[in-house]
Order: sequence, then structure tokens, then C-alpha cells
Amino acid sequence: MIRKFSNVISAIPSTRALLKTAKPNIVSVFYHTVSSKPLPHLKHLYPVLSPQLFAQDINFLLKHFTPIDIHDLTYDTNTCKRAKPGLLLSFDDGFREVFTEVLPILKSKSVPATIFVNPHFVDNKDMLYRCKVSLIIEKVSSLKKLPNIPNLSLSSQKVSASDFTNWLKTLNQTDLSQIEKIATYLGVNFSEYLSKHRPYLSINQLKTMANEGFTIGAHSLNHPNFASLTVNEQVAQAEKSIQWVSENIPNQPKLFAFPFSSDGVSAEFFKHFIQYPSKECDMIFGTSGYKPTSSPKFMHRIPMEESNRTAQQIIKGELLYYLIKKMANRHKDNTVI
Ligand SMILES: [Zn+2]
Repeated sequence: MIRKFSNVISAIPSTRALLKTAKPNIVSVFYHTVSSKPLPHLKHLYPVLSPQLFAQDINFLLKHFTPIDIHDLTYDTNTCKRAKPGLLLSFDDGFREVFTEVLPILKSKSVPATIFVNPHFVDNKDMLYRCKVSLIIEKVSSLKKLPNIPNLSLSSQKVSASDFTNWLKTLNQTDLSQIEKIATYLGVNFSEYLSKHRPYLSINQLKTMANEGFTIGAHSLNHPNFASLTVNEQVAQAEKSIQWVSENIPNQPKLFAFPFSSDGVSAEFFKHFIQYPSKECDMIFGTSGYKPTSSPKFMHRIPMEESNRTAQQIIKGELLYYLIKKMANRHKDNTVI
């Protein structure tokens, strides 16, 4: 509610005025991918920016922020010594277009970035369950009539295609066997899609990007919702994915970005990686927008893929939302005490 209000009202002040009042030291933003063509595996999940719109976002960000390399963060102090606030750019899930579409734009503008990857998806060995759901929805939208799919928790013949689609969007990682069954019934072949379209980055592309100065971080093994895992499973997903990056991509800092969000993640997790000195992880990233935390090892990022909203609108909305919450002293994330 307050966020929506902030988004509307933020049209009034200028970006410069909001930055001057909020005084952010670093703003961290993330995307997934950029593509000039529709991507069926993402089409029904979130908007994907065209290279032109992404370049416009970057131009706006460069006007107001100084891009910083994540390697330099450990040496960063809390006091801002830059003329402009710092900008940390990252990409989640390791999609192929980060190499083919994003990299040329970032290189031409000398903007560093971090790519958070899931080891199970690198080299197109498997794909995120939500991408599987998107492919099924794409198939459903091409059918005149839904076939009867037996033994589902929802009868496909008794509901409309749009109700079935909405139900598909509620499925979780734990519903994977149902997702696979529906795909088989509708003739959606995930393995064929992976080998034909290669939606994810290869290990060689990751190594090339690392050689060119981009940073590779971990994003869990297979992108589960952490709120639905036990603390041991959460720690194992984070540790094993960080370890995979260390073993496969040389000279990377140990970075971890929560898949989906850090909501519902237990305090034990943060104690393991942040409160107690640990060599396993240098820094952890969440997805709760512009929200300073009580630990320099935990930083939230702003999601930048929203329908019909530019980077300027998103950043201004986030800064105003932060300022409004600050008035009620509810602007900090105190998960890590
Ligand atoms: Zn993700």
C-alpha cells in the first residue's frame, strides 16, 4: 500500500532531490536478462527488457550513480566519498542473453556486473521449475480445449484456460512431479527445449565473462523457495552453490544471492553466514528493494523488471518509499542483529 503510494507520488520530486534527501551510499539493482525476441520460458513470469530499453536504463543509472566493482566493496567504507552514490548491478539465474545481449552494452559503457548462477542450470542441464510452468502456459494458450489430465489437484476439464493458467502459477518446486506430468500430457518436452534453445549460460561463457572482469556469484543449487526449506537445507543450498563457483570459476569472491527472496529465512541461516565469522561467504544479497540492513555483509537489491516502469520510475519510487518508512523508523532490515 505505502509502496504503491510512493510509486505514484515519486513522479513529483526530481531524482536529484530524492537522492539528496535519502543519501544512499550504494544502490544495488538486479535484472534477469535482456532480449529482443520473446522468450517462452520467461514470457509468463515477468517482463524482459529489450536491449534498447535496457541501454536507456543504464544511461539513466550512469547519470546518477557511479558503477562499482563488487571486488571493491570489501574496501568500501560506510561514508560516501564518491561524487555520486555507488551502483552495484547484478543479473540472476544465468540466462544466455546476459552473454549475447547484455555484455556488449555493459562493455561499451564500462559498467561492471555480477551474474548469480544456479549450478544445476549451467550448461542447460535443467531449468527452473517456473520456466517449466511458463512453457506449459505458452502451450495452454495455443490449445482450443484443455485435455483431461488425470490425478491433478485441479481438474483441467472443469476450469477455464485462464483459471488453469492461474493455478499453474501457484505451483511450487515441491509440485515438480505434477508439473512434469502436465508437460508430458500436453507434449511439452523440457529436455528438447533446453538442447534446442540453450536458455542458460555455459560454463565457458561464465569463464569468459569472469576473464573480462565480470563477477560470478552463487544463487543456490536449483533455485528453491528458501522459506519452504529447513535451515540445514538452506545452508546446504547456499554453501554448495558457493563451493561450485569456487571450484569452477577462478578468483571469484564468495557471493550468494537468495533465490526469490530472503523472506522466511531463519535467523540461524544468517547466524551461520554473517553473525559468526565465516570464510564460506563474503557477502549475501536479498531482493527487498532499497532497504539498508544492519550488516555490511547483507545487502538488498532493487528488482528492475516491472511492466511499463522505467529505471527512473523504479529508483524514485524506492527512494521515496524508503524516506516515508524512515519517518516511522521502519526503514532498516534488522534480520541480522
Ligand atoms: Zn533467481
